[in-house]
Order: sequence, then structure tokens, then C-alpha cells
Amino acid sequence: MRILIVGAGIVGTATAFELAGDGHQVTVLEQHAAAAEQASFASAGLLAPSLLIPWASPSGDSRLARRLLGGRATMRLMQGAGLTGLAWLWRWLRAGRQAQAGQRLQALAQLGQASLSRTRDIAQAMGSDIESSPGTLVLLRKLAHIELLQPLLEVLAHCGSALRQVDAETARLIEPGLATDVPLAGALHASDGQSANCRLFAQLLRQAAQEMGARFEFNTRVQGLTRSASGAINGVQLAGAPFSVQASQASQLQADAVVLCAGLAGAALLRPLGLRLPLMPVYGYSITAPVRDEFHAPQGSVIDPQHRITISRQGQRVRIAGGAELGHAGGLHDAATLRTLYLALSGWFPGGALASSPQVQVWRGARPMLPDGAPLISPGPAQGLWLNFGHGASGWAQACGSAQALADLIAGRRPALDMTPFALSRF
Ligand SMILES: Cc1cc2nc3c(=O)[nH]c(=O)nc-3n(C[C@H](O)[C@H](O)[C@H](O)COP(=O)(O)OP(=O)(O)OC[C@H]3O[C@@H](n4cnc5c(N)ncnc54)[C@H](O)[C@@H]3O)c2cc1C
Repeated sequence: MRILIVGAGIVGTATAFELAGDGHQVTVLEQHAAAAEQASFASAGLLAPSLLIPWASPSGDSRLARRLLGGRATMRLMQGAGLTGLAWLWRWLRAGRQAQAGQRLQALAQLGQASLSRTRDIAQAMGSDIESSPGTLVLLRKLAHIELLQPLLEVLAHCGSALRQVDAETARLIEPGLATDVPLAGALHASDGQSANCRLFAQLLRQAAQEMGARFEFNTRVQGLTRSASGAINGVQLAGAPFSVQASQASQLQADAVVLCAGLAGAALLRPLGLRLPLMPVYGYSITAPVRDEFHAPQGSVIDPQHRITISRQGQRVRIAGGAELGHAGGLHDAATLRTLYLALSGWFPGGALASSPQVQVWRGARPMLPDGAPLISPGPAQGLWLNFGHGASGWAQACGSAQALADLIAGRRPALDMTPFALSRF
């Protein structure tokens, strides 16, 4: 089949890789000049355990609702959130308490596991360094904090990824750079946890897909999908599809199917087809700094569940990520959140990173999030249209599994996972 993919983030490049591998003629349309320039640019990098990535699933924790504003807030309502943001937040909080929440968590955990295995296989076949670091440690200032994670830990144990509880001394043996003066009651250790560089992997996937014949049309913006009988606008022609694609470049493209991997833009692209999806940008930050001292820097990844912060090793750099803002806040960086991140970095790993170096990179990105925390991996609302977006806080951890499942659906193969929790019909 001739397949058009919209978007070359981690999800779009993984999808191009799988579809080109299946022998399809793939063309990727991307508005930026390179792959992974938006949400996939500087994610925290955590691959596993995907369920423990902060904000990866809706929270049934009612304390969160009371902590929306203020300097130490976790999810924050910012300027521009409006009533849409409030309504979305209410759905997100409610989703964590729904009867089917447990089933959804299990589906997300299974998608994460399948994705991890596919990512590792691809990385090994490529033989490239993707700045991968093994092991994930969940830091517990108080042992009572385990309670907050209990539903997630139960699902992980059920899926065969149980975490080992260790005392503070053992935690410091696993991560020798951990500060000795920060109170630490213990930790949970996932020895099969992993982090790696999402942007680097997206670029490698792009290259590998190109080698299999996929074409990437950069600086090409798809303006919308509209219903039409014939489907020819701006040279993009869809054979027999009841909708058309309008792109900014007049390339002579013909396709039998379109896959939307446009991340946050997925909802807007579908609106002309009469679909209104509750997809929200949940903004967060990452700060990346060069390693200062090998011994004091993190070796793998750590998660601070209380502040929903992650610190991961990315080659010769350390990346700290956190914050969750609803609303655009005029595009301005939130000073309080950045301060918390810098403090957490120097607090947990003193002397580990050169946090005041000119090479420090501060990034604000938007997690494309649906209120139940699960992505859309599904046939779309029109024949020949497929969806693979809305991966929220764990798009890197789910990209390769999602792409493989979507390629199965397009080929008429039965995916290894039950795809019901990821279907469009749930909205
Ligand atoms: C602070 C932070 C930390 C994170 N940490 C993690 C983590 O540790 N682990 C994890 O798994 N995930 C993490 N994430 C989430 C992860 O980054 C996203 O889920 C993932 O990058 C989404 O990938 P995507 O390909 O769907 O979207 P994107 O990377 O945004 O890709 C979409 C692409 O579509 C293109 N596009 C959009 N509209 C059009 C159009 N009209 N025409 C042409 N092209 C278009 C865009 O330019 C873009 O390149 C984090 C996110 C943030 C913000």
C-alpha cells in the first residue's frame, strides 16, 4: 500500500519504520525541518517501567485536586487553561477512579512491555548507541509514599515486572551519587528499568526507514483533513478515500491510507471530519546538563514520586524533568517549577551535573494527553484513515509497541495486545 504518515516525532518515525518494514510505500509529511522537534525533543527519556513515569496514568488521588495551585503544586492550572482545561482535569481525575481504571492500567503496562522489547530489538539490530542506561530507582522519602504507588505496583507485579523494595543504604549502593543528607527511607528498584535518548532514537528510526525506502518530506505542513469524494488537493491524492489531505507543499503524492502521528495536532486535524477529541497539552520541563563528576552523577534513572520528578542519565549528560501545566501561560517558562527542578537535581545528586554551564539546555514541551491516559491506536473515523497519537507522558516508552500494533492492524494481522483500550470508539 501507499501510506502517508503525518508527523515525524518518535511515534511517526517508529510507525514509518514498521510500515516500511512491512513492504509499504511510506511517505512521511513533517512540518519541521527534522524529526523529533516537538514533544519528542527532550523528554525525560524513561522507557521502563513505563507505568511509573510521572503523569503516565490518571490519578485517583483526591489530594491532587487540592494541590493545583501554589509554589509546590504538581499539576498546575496556568493562564489559558480556561473552562476547557478545568473540564479536562475533572475527566482526568475521574478516570483514575473509574471501575475500568485497573483494566486500563494493565493494558498500558502491557503496551509498555511490548514496546520496551521492540525498542531493545530495534536498537540491538541497529547496533547504535542510544545513550541507554539500565535500572530505575523510585526514591521514597517516607515509606508511606509506597501507598500512593500501590495500584501501579500491583499491576506491574501482575505483569511480571515486580519492583524490589530496598533500604536507603542499598539504594545508595545502586546509585552511589545519591546525597547522604537528604532524608531517604528506602527505594523501589526496577533492575530491568531503562532510559535512553528519545530524539536520537527517532533520528535513527528515520534513517533506518529511509534505508527501507520510506520518504520524508520535511517543511511540509498538513493543513487539514477534509471530507471529499475525489480527494485531490495540493497534489495529495488519496485513492478511493472519502477524505482528502491538504498539505503546504505541492508534492505529487498519492496514497491508499493516511496515518495521523501528529501528536498534539491530531485533534485539530480531525475536527473538520466532525470529531472533537479531548486532547490536551500538559506542559512540562526538562533541564539537561553535562555530567560534572562520574561518581556523583546518576548511573541509571531515578523517580521522585512525591514531586513527580525524574532524573536520568543520557550519555555524558544528566536530564531532570518534571512539572505539569494545563494552559499555555503565554509560552512563558514557570520560574517556580524550574527552581524546583534545579533544587531537586542538586539536592539528590550534589556535584553530579554542571547545572550552571552554558551548555545547559532548558526545554518546555507538551505531552499530548487524553483524559484516560491511553493513546489512540486505532482505525480513524473514515476509511483509510488510521490514528496513532495521544501518548501523553509515555510516548517514548510506548512508541515502538504502538507502531508495531498499528502496522498489524493495517496488515489485517491480529496484534499481540488487546487494542480495545486504545480504540477511537471510547470517545
Ligand atoms: C517534560 C516531558 C517529559 C517526558 N518524559 C517522558 C518519558 O520519560 N518517557 C516517555 O515515554 N515519554 C515522556 N514524555 C512524553 C513524550 O515526550 C511524548 O509522549 C512523545 O514525544 C509524543 O510523541 P509524538 O510523536 O506523538 O509527538 P511529537 O513528538 O510531538 O510528534 C508529532 C509530530 O507531528 C508534526 N506535526 C504536527 N502537526 C503537523 C502538521 N499539520 N503537518 C505536518 N506535521 C505535523 C510535529 O511537527 C511533530 O514533529 C515527556 C514529555 C514531556 C513534555
